[in-house]
Amino acid sequence: MKIVSYIIWTCPAEKEGFINVHLVAHTHDDAGWLKTVDQYYYGARSQIQEAGVQYIIDSVVDELKDHPDRRFIYVEMAFFTRWWQEQTETTKALVRTLVNEGRLEFINGGWCMNDEATAHYVDIIDQMSFGLITLNDTFGECGRPRISWQIDPFGHSREQASLFAQMGYDGLFFGRLDHEDKKERMAKKTMEMVWSGSDSLGTQASLFTAVNYNLYQPPPGFCFDIYCNDEPIIDDPRSKDYNVEKRVTDFLNYCQEQANAYATDSILLTMGSDFHYQDANVWFKNMDKLIKYANERQATGSRFNLFYSTPSCYTKALNDHAKTWPSKTGDFFPYGSDAHAYWTGYFTSRPASKYMIRQGSNLMQVCKQMDAALVRQGVATNQVGELFTMKDAMGIMQHHDAVTGTEKQHVAEDYALLLHKGVVECQKIQTAYYEKELVIGNQVLPKVSYCQLNVSQCDPTEKNNRFVVNIYNSMARSVDKYVRVPVASGTIFQVHDPQGNVVASQTVPIAEYVKSLPGRVSSATVELVFLASQLPPLGSKSYYVQPGTSKDEHEPQNKFAISNEKVSVEIDDVRGLIKSVTVNGKTTELKQEFLWYPSKSGDNSVADKRASGAYIFRPDSDDAFAIPSSGITTTTYSGELVEEVHQIYNPWVAQTIRLYKGQEHVELDWVVGPIPVEDGTGKEIINRVTTSIASSGMFYTDANGRQTLERRFNIRDSYPYTVTEPIAANYYPVNSHAYIKDAVGNQVTMLVDRPQGGSSLHNGELELMVHRRCLYDDAFGVGEALNETAYGDGLVVRGTHFLILGDKTNSMKMARSLSHELYKQPQISFIPTSLSFSEWSALYKTQQQSLSRTLPVNVNLLTLETLNQGKYLMRLEHIYDVGEDSILSQPATVSIEGLFPGFTVTSSEETMLGGNQFKKDSNRLVWNVASTSNRNENGQQIWDERAIPAVQLKPMEIRTFIITLVRI
Ligand SMILES: [Zn+2]
Repeated sequence: MKIVSYIIWTCPAEKEGFINVHLVAHTHDDAGWLKTVDQYYYGARSQIQEAGVQYIIDSVVDELKDHPDRRFIYVEMAFFTRWWQEQTETTKALVRTLVNEGRLEFINGGWCMNDEATAHYVDIIDQMSFGLITLNDTFGECGRPRISWQIDPFGHSREQASLFAQMGYDGLFFGRLDHEDKKERMAKKTMEMVWSGSDSLGTQASLFTAVNYNLYQPPPGFCFDIYCNDEPIIDDPRSKDYNVEKRVTDFLNYCQEQANAYATDSILLTMGSDFHYQDANVWFKNMDKLIKYANERQATGSRFNLFYSTPSCYTKALNDHAKTWPSKTGDFFPYGSDAHAYWTGYFTSRPASKYMIRQGSNLMQVCKQMDAALVRQGVATNQVGELFTMKDAMGIMQHHDAVTGTEKQHVAEDYALLLHKGVVECQKIQTAYYEKELVIGNQVLPKVSYCQLNVSQCDPTEKNNRFVVNIYNSMARSVDKYVRVPVASGTIFQVHDPQGNVVASQTVPIAEYVKSLPGRVSSATVELVFLASQLPPLGSKSYYVQPGTSKDEHEPQNKFAISNEKVSVEIDDVRGLIKSVTVNGKTTELKQEFLWYPSKSGDNSVADKRASGAYIFRPDSDDAFAIPSSGITTTTYSGELVEEVHQIYNPWVAQTIRLYKGQEHVELDWVVGPIPVEDGTGKEIINRVTTSIASSGMFYTDANGRQTLERRFNIRDSYPYTVTEPIAANYYPVNSHAYIKDAVGNQVTMLVDRPQGGSSLHNGELELMVHRRCLYDDAFGVGEALNETAYGDGLVVRGTHFLILGDKTNSMKMARSLSHELYKQPQISFIPTSLSFSEWSALYKTQQQSLSRTLPVNVNLLTLETLNQGKYLMRLEHIYDVGEDSILSQPATVSIEGLFPGFTVTSSEETMLGGNQFKKDSNRLVWNVASTSNRNENGQQIWDERAIPAVQLKPMEIRTFIITLVRI
């Protein structure tokens, strides 16, 4: 990768004393929504939607070519990259010229325009970096986007703003914010502000932020696309349809109206929409005329000055005004587009797809690490599996109609297929890694298999009684993992650790509701459980399983409690629900149960007739109802390693309450679905914990799996809020943790394994929405009800919550550590064998690691990925916020020399978060802010290349390096 530092601003000059109107020609190209990515690119299936991205870019390039004053912005690299690969050298040279001259400008530049509520921060960083590095490799500095352009996502995250700032962006533009917030901002002329993105990071996480006036649409009546019906500018005075005077007057009136809502005399008009500019001439020809005739009026006193511009030129113009801007600290969730349309349903929509994406995220980190390890060993990795396929799929999955679950069903199926292809490529890399790392001498490793452990199905372990279990840990610290392997009933097993010692194991019956999961093809009735302890950092251990002699299967017990040495869970013997949890001698009375909201039906003709759908959550009740059941049945299993209560509500809700030895949290492994809708009512299912904790109307949710934000029931921090939807408007996105606490430090924390909506509607309560099945479209474009089916019935979803009870001090420590363990679950693979343990261990390594030592517990190795020519992209991250823990929130120091066994670090250059610009070259615009609540204004630290051995990380800081590794 070549990075240069030169910045060229080629912006049109504003006219002083005028209202300067920046016309931004743009197209909004969804990476899948009503059509698949391929259908959008090629322009297929026009009966669904007229849209063909290849033609758009062709047409725009053609229209820019001979018109130096015209400008256009392009956003989505998933599309642009495909187009670029198909171009001739002549066209590529032309496009380079357009980019170098600022006529075609890349904005945002991620693989897609990612969702901000349900995307995990690791995936945001990955998908942005994938696009930004591709742009840098293709166009150099002139292709580096200065502005983030999030014009369509359904609400905006503070963590996303922080990440964008750390990527070096000068500004963020978006379209959707709560209707009452927008009204307030327009009245107060605070549509533009400086957003403080982090309590820990100070100005390096601050970002100039602008709200678009009309979402991302052109002024009403001025849509000149082939898809629109608005009047063109008819400028032949001999024509009876001549309309220049009227059209220009109408346009300038609109400009004045917009200018009234903004703080300066510069305004930005979005001239484009979804998949516009397929015939770019229509747009440009009419805008040329509009500009010409509007500016001619300056001679007769008009104060308006129109010109083609871009968001970066507009941002630079505002910066030149040297004004003091208002500040913003919280976020822009939830988003209510009217009094009854709160976009909080999509926090949970398509829960199985959301889980697959989270699993894909974890797998991709593993693949990148393994790929880097193979490259260090001299293996040409593009011959074993394509990382590109996985990066492309995971990039697309972050799109604001993908991970959100707001796409049509056929598109959801295409997304799953894309991701599946990525997973298959990743497994090839995993296999190659094991083949390289595990063999001694010239041995050949037998076939490595991967299993569908989410449905407790595994051919290699069900059909063999001797097999090896490889467990890979992608974290930079060692972890313990309880491994569960489905096996044939009746066989007694013995498990050996990598040294050959027999370790404790237990067989546990697979719950009936797991055995009957639709699509499961398995005869296994029990799972073999053992503890893989102290898994090495970026390394694996192999456990050897063979037939044993002593039976360890336990019969169900008629008791209403499970416990380990630290925690006990009491079950109410009448209702069958948890009634209390005791942790280290302290008992908390609590109820945990699944409940349901009826989905509002409606024809969406007026606000009050809005239906609950893929985007919108709108319950048709004042509170959630109990799940209909004829009595909850419970069965308890105890053993040396794990104790479980199998809890069945009815044929569509069940849960395993689980306590492993040594763990201080309670695991809730739930199965929900098929949600019955025969009564004609959609249903939205929640898991709610009720305690006596005096939470004073406050609760806390994470942003993108990272920082934590305080939420207050029925209160917004920046505008007066009218209570119209008391449940839905109090829902917030949860990606890793949500909690409530009281003044004396009692805290209840829930961790999630995928994005979900969550809230606290009454003091002491915490709820998470796990699944939803709605029967009406909510009329925001997708045109289908969110009614997922699979195997001929409503979709069944299995998931996990971790429940943590404790005081404020230890809860956050556990939550931070456990949420990383829940996300970065070790990867498990299997090799059946006929060899004995001693034969196996003579031929194959049973333990190996590709990191020399563990990193501090408050540091995460966020990224390790191959660039080229001995260079690797590495990100280190401090996982605590300021003030979360007296010790772990302190700065951490990591030495990177000698971190990779057999290699030395010969160079290490710090880059911005996207990996596309050296940190020393960053010169972000500086803004005057009215007030700031930043607690930490230490500013940013510049990496000193001479001091390779140690990297210091402040709370929440992510530092990105390009390192060169040379074999010692
Ligand atoms: Zn969109």
